[in-house]
Amino acid sequence: MRTVLLFLSILFTLTGCVSPDRSKAVVVIDAGHGGHDSGAISGEKLEKNLVLSIAKKVRKALRRNGHPVYLTRSGDSFLKLGQRTRIADRKEAMIFLSIHANASPNPKKNELLSGVETYYLQKSRDARSQRIAERENAAVLMGTDELSKDVIIDSVLNGPKIVESHKLAIDIQREMLKRMKGEYHDVKDGGVRPGPFYVLVGASRPSILVEVGYLSNTKERQRLFESDYQNAIAKGIASGIGRYLDNRKKEIDI
Ligand SMILES: [Zn+2]
Repeated sequence: MRTVLLFLSILFTLTGCVSPDRSKAVVVIDAGHGGHDSGAISGEKLEKNLVLSIAKKVRKALRRNGHPVYLTRSGDSFLKLGQRTRIADRKEAMIFLSIHANASPNPKKNELLSGVETYYLQKSRDARSQRIAERENAAVLMGTDELSKDVIIDSVLNGPKIVESHKLAIDIQREMLKRMKGEYHDVKDGGVRPGPFYVLVGASRPSILVEVGYLSNTKERQRLFESDYQNAIAKGIASGIGRYLDNRKKEIDI
């Protein structure tokens, strides 16, 4: 066993793998949109403000668990595509997490659509995933031509991080729902889904995007701007990251 552990430790040193020790696992949290890009707008509430508030609560919860944490933006500023993920490279982050809020594409469905969804980067034929990705991509892709879009997305789709991102998405979605349903029984589980989100493209580490709820749904919008609800989301995300790292550590220990 000792030889195996020694071998693994040499292997990880040589391959540059980062230890899944929580206290060393740097997390970068990206609050979506910012500046002139408000994201979804509903009932005079702006997505960019909501996701920044939640990102700060996630930072607090993760720091309490011992993680070094960085935000891509801590104020109301716009970041270009690349700036968001570049910070993850600079800080040698182990996990990249982008936070967004959803909106119904059809006013008739405003009160029908609600719930939490977690996405990992993958081309998807699912019309709903494509529509949501298109909306989230709009501002970050301004000025990028179709060919470049295909090149950047293809460059990562076969990478090993896709599998890890999927695992991370499952753990975060599960823990978020568990935490939220404890206090708000009717929260809808929108599931883990693949989607072509460009903010995840440049990240060479497990990376996911959380849609915390629908601003277009009156009841959910009210909850989303309540501090207790935001804390439930934040603690759920933090415990999902903890679970993912624990599972990864177990895989290494075997
Ligand atoms: Zn968004």
